[in-house]
Amino acid sequence: MENKKEMRTWLDDLGLDHPLVIAGPCSAETEEQVLKIAHELKDTDVNYYRAGIWKPRTRPGNFEGVGHLGLKWLQKVKEETGMKTATEVANAAHVKLALEHDIDLLWIGARSTVSPFIVQEIADALEGTDKIVLVKNPVNPDLPLWLGAIERLYSSNIKKLGVIHRGFSTYEKTKYRNKPKWQLAIELQRRFPDLPIINDPSHITGKRDMIFDVSQTALDLNFDGLMIETHIDPDNAWSDAAQQVTPSTLVQIMEDLKIRKETD
Ligand code: PEP
Ligand code: MN
Repeated sequence: MENKKEMRTWLDDLGLDHPLVIAGPCSAETEEQVLKIAHELKDTDVNYYRAGIWKPRTRPGNFEGVGHLGLKWLQKVKEETGMKTATEVANAAHVKLALEHDIDLLWIGARSTVSPFIVQEIADALEGTDKIVLVKNPVNPDLPLWLGAIERLYSSNIKKLGVIHRGFSTYEKTKYRNKPKWQLAIELQRRFPDLPIINDPSHITGKRDMIFDVSQTALDLNFDGLMIETHIDPDNAWSDAAQQVTPSTLVQIMEDLKIRKETD
């Protein structure tokens, strides 16, 4: 991804001395859980605190998120810790509520990117926003679908756009939950060289002990940031328990990755 970063982007404007880090639980579960994790992350290199409020579960019968109630908890995170906040939006109603609650970064999940109707609805609802909007790759390795989502968002005059590589569903036998396709991410970067690209090792691996290696690969490939699911009690998380790390493990991962840029 050598030919990127010819233009200054919203990411450069953040002035970070390390890759962007988005961390927090897969799902907001209770107000206490959301605030406890946030307080543990506030003095680390984490830039955006994530928590899923509306959870796109593949099959019904699992926890589907606390809904808009969780937006108030994220507002409290901001008040108490000063951290910026992030959540997934999957329709126009979610966008409206997230904007009303001043969520700083909104992402479109893999199950939404597959649907041009949903992406268009979200793009229309976000028209002209100055919030950061990140588009995860679609569940299946279909580059045009991912490109199409980006084009729809660009057409809605969203200035702070970026993408997240969270791996792809496959029927191959693989050690990954969602297999990374680095070449496809590189091809996307070639088409949109100025679009920041974030890696999501949590959903790629599905297992916490593989997160470091995938993060390192992403940084070696010049990814601009990482989104890592972090929970105070990962084994008892209400979703994605096997892939979440504790705040102290996250800090150790970031330390081992040596994400801080050397200063002269
Ligand atoms: C998530 O980030 O919690 C999530 C549901 O991700 P994805 O859309 O990548 O499955
Ligand atoms: Mn998750």
